[in-house]
Amino acid sequence: MSASVVIQTSFLGDTILTTPLLVQLAHRGPVDVVTTPAAASVLKGHPAVRQVIVYDKRDTHAGFVGFLTMRARLKRGQYDTAYLAQGSMRSALLVWAARIPERIGFATSSGSRFYTTRVAYRDDLHHAARLLLLSRPNGREPTEEEMRPSLAPGSAERVVVDDLLQSHHVQPGERLIALAPGSVWATKRWPYYPQLAQALAESGRIVIIGGPGDRAPAKEILATVPNAVDATDQLPLLASAELIGRSAVIVTNDSAPLHLASAMGTPTVAIFGPTVPQFGFGPLAPTKATLGHENLACRPCHRHGPKRCPLTHFRCMRELSVEEVAERTRNLFLTPDALV
Ligand code: SF4
Repeated sequence: MSASVVIQTSFLGDTILTTPLLVQLAHRGPVDVVTTPAAASVLKGHPAVRQVIVYDKRDTHAGFVGFLTMRARLKRGQYDTAYLAQGSMRSALLVWAARIPERIGFATSSGSRFYTTRVAYRDDLHHAARLLLLSRPNGREPTEEEMRPSLAPGSAERVVVDDLLQSHHVQPGERLIALAPGSVWATKRWPYYPQLAQALAESGRIVIIGGPGDRAPAKEILATVPNAVDATDQLPLLASAELIGRSAVIVTNDSAPLHLASAMGTPTVAIFGPTVPQFGFGPLAPTKATLGHENLACRPCHRHGPKRCPLTHFRCMRELSVEEVAERTRNLFLTPDALV
């Protein structure tokens, strides 16, 4: 059986969207993954992964000495194939210097000259499907089922979530409505989550999902719905996935919780402002709705979302009403087969 290593040092969402590729490769032999410290924990316990190798480019493995350390680590792995799910020159040089014989990545990547196989980067596909095609360059396009991501929260995550919910006196069977108001990019944050929380509070218990950077929007939601469960900065990533998995629905921006929900199969309402799902990062949960301002000539304006609206009016988000999002959310969990 041939051993392979997958290099994925992009954002957390990209790591989650790499899991269908990992599942595919695991049928052929052991699979190790090189990823960032932030993303490593989300792959804990994943059945397709033999080992997660943390690559801390900004600290432990910064500079030339760090590069050599990682090269030695990869050489020891005696891999037959490296899959470059992230296409930087540094990653390409790393697997080349580690003398991994087969190096497969996207033809558009900056390090592609060091690959042995270059795969077309298909703009028309979901990113999970693009990544999956690295494992079968001339094969058929993946089905929706094949490109659905997966994660494996275990008993430790269940206990942490149980404790959090109990501390907020959530009753067994109480319906949870998850809201994820954050995003690394300011213009991807829809500004009306507090009002949405108020509109949905009578349909279930509001749960606020997010990391350390999302404390401020969580406080705004708590100001309107004081009995909301604030899980921001309270849970490890995989426990956040567990909590999302227990929720009847999640409303999220175009950010990491969207992909956690896809992996957990949670009905998803995804709000897109300066970006669009056609970039390849839309929800993959079986039940989903995507919302965005459909009649705005300036949209989309940026691949990730600019720091500020270049036109200053920020209409893509400001004109997406609370009523519209609330109605679609209610429809989604009251009629679960209403796909968009
Ligand atoms: S330019 Fe348009 S799409 Fe971009 S942030 Fe402003 S309103 Fe949104």
